[in-house]
Amino acid sequence: MALIVQKYGGTSVADCKKIENVAERVITCKRQGNDVAVVLSAMSGETNRLIALAKEIQARPDPRELDVLMATGEQVTIALFAMAAKKRGFEAKSFLGFQVPIMTKPLFNKARIEEIPSANLQDALKAGVIPVVAGFQGVTKDEDITTLGRGGSDTTAVALAAALHADVCEIYTDVEGVYTTDPNICPSAKKIEKITYEEMMEMASLGAKVLEIRSVEMAMRYDIPIHVRSTFTNTPGTLVVKEDEKMEHILVSGVTYSRNEARITLSKVPDKPGIASSIFNPISSANIAIDMIIQNTRAGDLTDMTFTVSRDDHDQAMEIVKEAASKIGAEKVTGDTNIAKVSIVGVGMRNHAGVASQMFDILARHGINILMISTSEIKISCVIEEKYTELAVRALHEGFGLDKPSLQGK
Ligand code: ADP
Ligand code: ASP
Ligand code: MG
Repeated sequence: MALIVQKYGGTSVADCKKIENVAERVITCKRQGNDVAVVLSAMSGETNRLIALAKEIQARPDPRELDVLMATGEQVTIALFAMAAKKRGFEAKSFLGFQVPIMTKPLFNKARIEEIPSANLQDALKAGVIPVVAGFQGVTKDEDITTLGRGGSDTTAVALAAALHADVCEIYTDVEGVYTTDPNICPSAKKIEKITYEEMMEMASLGAKVLEIRSVEMAMRYDIPIHVRSTFTNTPGTLVVKEDEKMEHILVSGVTYSRNEARITLSKVPDKPGIASSIFNPISSANIAIDMIIQNTRAGDLTDMTFTVSRDDHDQAMEIVKEAASKIGAEKVTGDTNIAKVSIVGVGMRNHAGVASQMFDILARHGINILMISTSEIKISCVIEEKYTELAVRALHEGFGLDKPSLQGK
């Protein structure tokens, strides 16, 4: 008998019929003798709908009230699920974030989980009740409702699996696992049987939204195996686990892309000590994460500084940078939201030279200009014009032989 945390995403609970299907699946797992705790997302599209409502009233919604609003999405699905389980003769009890409680830091819209006292859930499990927990939300010690950032239900699920010492965290979604690239834009994408935490973390941070990055970080820290699989079939999915020797033989495991990118350039900045901190300190104080940074020296004592932020943060970052630019005497600030980032990821890259040049070569052969480059031990990312995103993903997927099944999962 195992203790399993099962998380179902938005498309899996998109309407009452689908919620009843999820209830059937959870009950089947219980009937097989397992203890199950369930985490649910809001119905697909619901969180976007709630954000759009908020924006009808305030262009940049008040962060605290936005969390109160967004948290309602998951409240609906957990209550309906509990009803569907009870209808089938099984006891289930819904838990909102504060009822667990999922304690977070007081940072609205991007809160981090600090602690999950598990007594309430343990009591439910001991009594044979299926606890069904609202994903994505938490509570601060001052009793404010917080949310964990988009896609945050994955993090709720892994955090609960860690708190309950579960044997596995199963993430149910609308695809059969983690693929070599997004199967919705590249039909030749192949399901990966096993992927390391590190590769999955890179893939998630570089745009493969099938798992939220913090959920993978947490799974790695607490050694929780994640099984990503489909809500609509019984096929085994992808295991996200510790690296073993065999996995290092795969050079490139996946190709990812992200359109949630924006580039900001400060031109003709006087080149002297302290300029980088005068630009980037106010941005980080506003909790905006900076990704790539490039500094080019011009003739004279002038330099250009270019960096990327997520597109959601572009407008706010531009305001901040314009103010900083006038203080340090930069000539011009320009923003560009028509960019995307394509990346290749693989632990095997650590021990192989020439992967980067192969990537640049493939992009060049398809007439795609590279605007920025960044690398780490196990990934290479290129910023390109957004209109080439799908072309680049398909070209890299094919160019690195990921469409050939023999290379995968072996
Ligand atoms: P959920 O609502 O279940 O949390 P998401 O939409 O967040 O589901 O994540 C699943 C989606 O992730 C898939 O439908 C797919 O389009 C996208 N995706 C992007 N990259 C990948 C990848 N490498 N493997 C699988 N899915 C991916
Ligand atoms: N409902 C939230 C979102 O759409 C959280 C999640 O689905 O994981 O981002
Ligand atoms: Mg998701």
